[in-house]
Amino acid sequence: MSWLPDWITHILLAFVLADLLGQRKSLVLIGAVLPDVLIAPFVLFRGAPELAYAFYSIFHTPFASLTLAASASSAFKKQWKAFSLLALGVASHFALDIFQAPGGYQLLWPLSTAGFGFDLFYSDSLFLPAAVLALFIAYLAAKKFLGKKYSLNEQAQI
Ligand SMILES: [Zn+2]
Repeated sequence: MSWLPDWITHILLAFVLADLLGQRKSLVLIGAVLPDVLIAPFVLFRGAPELAYAFYSIFHTPFASLTLAASASSAFKKQWKAFSLLALGVASHFALDIFQAPGGYQLLWPLSTAGFGFDLFYSDSLFLPAAVLALFIAYLAAKKFLGKKYSLNEQAQI
């Protein structure tokens, strides 16, 4: 996926998850884009594909993302709650990414370099963003239909 549809897709799914769980959305949304934010410097290595791949392989992993989430959560009063919300976002990120092709994601790095993935959609396909957008719209419609008031207000304070 190109960057923008990819990030929007991750944010929409994380929003639905956080809302379903009644959790603070902002930290879940940040966690959902964290793995891709970590690889932003990846563009600096475009002239050296092997270095770029190595950088991507290490930083686009649950280990790197959760390590950063743990560091960031130390700034919050309720550190474990902040970490769990960021981790939920990170988990939703990789849950979507593993459907992309080609190749797989090193979900167990540094324990293993094995790649995991279903290879269902090419990364430039808009099927996955469209499916998540449809899920988001259906979720909002279901909330409205069921009579729950849609609100962007945070439900929990950290
Ligand atoms: Zn990703």
